Amino acid sequence: MSGAERRVVVVGADGAGMSAAHQALRTAARHGERLAVTVLDRGHHTSYSACGIPYWMSGDVPTQQDLVARTAAEHREAGIDLRLGVEVVGADLAARTVTTADGDELGYDELVVATGAPAVVPDWAVRPDGTAYDGVGVVKTLDDGAAWVERFAAAGAGAHVVVVGAGYVGVEVAEAALARGFGVTVLTRTRGMSMLEEELSDRVNAALVDAGVELVLGAEVTGLEVDGDRVSGVRWEGGRGDADLVVVAIGVRPATDFLAGNGLELSEGGALRPDPHGRVADHVWAAGDCCEVRRRIDDQWVFRPLGTHAAKMGRALGDSLAGGGLTFDGMVDTSITRFSAGDVHVEIARTGLSRADAAAAGHDAVALVTEGTTATGYMPEAEPIAIWVMADRVTRRLLGVQVVGGHGAGKRIDTSAAVLWAGGSVDDLAWMDLAYAPPFATTWEVLQIAARRVAERL
Ligand SMILES: Cc1cc2nc3c(=O)[nH]c(=O)nc-3n(C[C@H](O)[C@H](O)[C@H](O)COP(=O)(O)OP(=O)(O)OC[C@H]3O[C@@H](n4cnc5c(N)ncnc54)[C@H](O)[C@@H]3O)c2cc1C
Repeated sequence: MSGAERRVVVVGADGAGMSAAHQALRTAARHGERLAVTVLDRGHHTSYSACGIPYWMSGDVPTQQDLVARTAAEHREAGIDLRLGVEVVGADLAARTVTTADGDELGYDELVVATGAPAVVPDWAVRPDGTAYDGVGVVKTLDDGAAWVERFAAAGAGAHVVVVGAGYVGVEVAEAALARGFGVTVLTRTRGMSMLEEELSDRVNAALVDAGVELVLGAEVTGLEVDGDRVSGVRWEGGRGDADLVVVAIGVRPATDFLAGNGLELSEGGALRPDPHGRVADHVWAAGDCCEVRRRIDDQWVFRPLGTHAAKMGRALGDSLAGGGLTFDGMVDTSITRFSAGDVHVEIARTGLSRADAAAAGHDAVALVTEGTTATGYMPEAEPIAIWVMADRVTRRLLGVQVVGGHGAGKRIDTSAAVLWAGGSVDDLAWMDLAYAPPFATTWEVLQIAARRVAERL
């Protein structure tokens, strides 16, 4: 390309935005083009692992720096004009400008939206003026993490932490609070770990209770009790409990408000739907948690704000923007976490469709739970594992797999994800060549027994 440098403005300087920025520079350099890349972020941190925050809260990860993959200085050395503390409040896609909270206007040739999805803060969690009560907060940014590390350090022995929300963040934070020696209550208005089918989420619930967590299912929180400026309790429909600290982990929402009025198509929840190259409109691109992702199995757009998608989407976007051909070709709805406290350790993973998804897609689905062990029974490593497998009765296509079990259980999900990615059948999963030796598996690997049992019932 000849002429002036193309101006790329990226809004959001974390996983998706910085992947896009660096990949754009790399691909452009390969093609002999120079890009002027400016990245704006309203926060003060870049490229950090939010995923690691619960493990920093627990003490497994010693310092904030351990969670930072690349510092602001490193990004600038790579040629990126990184501007922190700059909030974008508006965009004019026709004029190709963005406006900042300070009233500055920046022109662009290509706009990358990588603004993520901030934590949802319900009205009951804040004072009438919108500020949080002392002892109450979300777990989303590095600053949130720092606040929690401080609050945990300041809380006395016997302090009680109430976690509102029993999704993966809620469960990870419960683990962190137990590791710090606090009493823990987890409240959820649903049934807990609702990313799993009930047969498996019940096992996670049991693990929480075994570890000493007070778990209250179906608890719709109605308000906080406060003592001066500090939280002292939580009320829910039909109950209440004392609280020294309250963690609000009820979900996130795409940060796309600044695009309002531009005619861009947003999902009901406010997410963008980029094409596989990351494009949402002429000269407008998007990646990461501010987007929905396409689930390959049923061709549905779903909101799955995960770092693994953000990194891939950012890379494909950056490459495409600079003239390359990388694409992000959707996902199969894989995710994993763990809950570990004292003697209790469960790994929790899922991939593919749920029963409800399968029904919505018109599948005649057959599903079964199989129990086994993660290693041959005579080995000391052997731990219980339960695997839920679902397949289509007519086509025999594998539709979904979920796992709850001890050490070594969780990453078994990847084999199933690979079969789903390739559009394989439950027979593929049952008969493919997987590794066996007594410390790692049973002769018939438990995942393959689970698949075989479903195959036999089709
Ligand atoms: C506690 C926790 C645990 C997690 N664990 C996992 C896990 O185990 N596995 C996994 O895959 N994912 C996990 N995630 C999710 C993962 O962290 C996110 O998917 C990932 O951070 C998304 O990256 P992103 O760049 O799209 O968005 P973000 O990381 O949210 O970054 C968006 C950036 O945009 C900035 N921004 C927003 N609006 C504006 C604006 N108007 N102007 C300027 N800047 C703006 C924000 O300040 C922010 O820095 C976890 C998240 C949390 C909170």
